[in-house]
Parts: sequence; structure tokens; C-alpha cells
Amino acid sequence: MSAEPHAGPHVLILGGTTEARRLAETLAAPEPAPPTPPFRVTSSLAGRVAAPVLPPGEVRIGGFGGPEGLAAWIATHRVTHLVDATHPFAERMSFNAARAAALSGVPLLALRRPGWTPGPGDDWTFAPDLDGAAALLPRLGAARVFLTTGRTGLHAFAHLTRPWFLVRSVDPPAGPVPPRLEVLLARGPFTLGDERELLSRHRIDLLVTKDSGGSATAPKLAAARAAGVPVLVVRRPPVPEGVPEAGTAAAAAAWLHEHAART
Ligand code: NAP
Repeated sequence: MSAEPHAGPHVLILGGTTEARRLAETLAAPEPAPPTPPFRVTSSLAGRVAAPVLPPGEVRIGGFGGPEGLAAWIATHRVTHLVDATHPFAERMSFNAARAAALSGVPLLALRRPGWTPGPGDDWTFAPDLDGAAALLPRLGAARVFLTTGRTGLHAFAHLTRPWFLVRSVDPPAGPVPPRLEVLLARGPFTLGDERELLSRHRIDLLVTKDSGGSATAPKLAAARAAGVPVLVVRRPPVPEGVPEAGTAAAAAAWLHEHAART
């Protein structure tokens, strides 16, 4: 962390996503140059990834200690604007950001990549959350399920003795898991060809996914469509009430410059 005094606006980006990194890059090299003074940019990472790709600007790593800890950090470092660019399913951090913004009086924006929508040929069923997906799953009659909702959410499915599940993750799952489970240790990105081959090799008859959005993990959806495999989609938790949203880094940068011009 730089100790340089900075009189201009200071944005804290709560990150861990491609969009968060893109926003830091956009603010580091604005094109064309905005009318407002340059932002001091600090990106915050949770510290879950051993060797993260670091964005330009300052970076801090690790939790703040709840909303009060975040509000204290905002005050100490004279943060003027807060952007919650965490993953759409990082619900606790989004709640903390809203609470900390209210405590400190700094404007908050949620940067969320758009969710996925079904197209022609898709057979999607929606569940409100992970528990809802586990409750719906037995009714869909699948025997071999590719479960891609993340290794930390496997406990929601741990009570299901049927069907058989395939899980793919970088690190092995910890905590309760379903009894009939095969774990494939692998690191993405995965191409459409990879995903088609995997669905076919394991004779998958249902894909379960969170509505993460974005292109990085979308090939599994295209592969399911091509193979006629139905998809159970877990809906996103809502953005906290009253928090404005932007769908792209460019829109978030525009919001920041507009707000900075007003102060
Ligand atoms: P979470 O449940 O919403 O947050 C748990 C705690 O982790 C928070 O209370 C906070 O600790 C800390 N934290 C989360 N994001 C942080 C950040 N950007 N900077 C500093 N502290 C942070 O979060 P999660 O779902 O475990 O996700 C953790 C990180 O991985 C997030 O940054 C998210 O963007 C990224 N990620 C999540 C997913 C997903 O599916 N959930 C997928 C890809 C990437 P304190 O209360 O101590 O501040």
C-alpha cells in the first residue's frame, strides 16, 4: 500500500472477478482522458487464490472484519467511492459493502456482469438458490449429474443418495459431499470441445450451474444445448436494495467519473 498523499478521489474496488480487474485497468488508462482528476485505485481481494492475477494500482488482500472493519478501512484510507465488483454469488461481501457504504456515507456501485438467458434449443429449469436446486433435483429424474456450482456449495447436495454426481474443481472438495460422487481435478478454461467430450464420456443427463454469467464458463451451456442435456440454473442472490448496478467496467468507470465530477 502506497503512503503517498492523494488529494483526488479514491476508489476501493472489491474484486476477485474479471470485471473488477477490467475496471482497475480502465481507470489506470482512461481513454479518452476524463475531465475529472485521476482516481487513486485500490483493489481488494479476499485472498482465496494462491497466485492471483493482480490488477494495476494498489492491491490489498484479505478480509476487513465485517462491515464495521470495511467502514473503518474506508475512513482511514479516505476512500471516496466504493465499487462492489465481487462475484454475483459473493452474497456476504455485497451485504457488507452496502452496510459499510451506509455507515461511511460513500457512494456505492455494484458491478455485475449480466446473467445468462436461455436461447433456442435450451432446456433450463431455475432454482432460487442451492438448497432449492437440491430440492428440485430428484424431481428432474436425472441419473448422472454434472454439478458445477462450486466445491464450497456441495454440502447442499450431500443428503442426496441419488443420482450419481460429477464435480470438477482445482482443489479437492472439503466438507460434506453427496455419497455417489466422482471428483475430476482440473483447472479451466474449458473449450466447447472439452465440455462436449466430458458430457459424452460421462453420459451426463443433467447439468447444474449457478447463473454466474460471462463467457469464461459459458461453453458448458453450449455443450449441454448441443447434446440435448437439460440444465438446472441457480438464480443469483439479489443486489442489496437501493444499490445502483452497472453491467460492464466501462459503465462503472462512467458512473465513477460522473460522481467525481459532482464532488
Ligand atoms: P463471501 O461469502 O461473500 O464473503 C466472505 C468473506 O470473505 C467476507 O465477509 C469478507 O471478509 C471476505 N471477502 C470476500 N470478498 C472480499 C474482497 N474482495 N476483499 C476482501 N475481503 C473479501 O465471498 P465468497 O463467495 O467466499 O467469495 C470470495 C471471493 O471470491 C470474492 O472476492 C469473490 O469475488 C470471489 N469469487 C467468488 C465466487 C463465488 O461463486 N462465490 C466465484 C468466483 C470468485 P470480511 O467480512 O472479514 O471482510
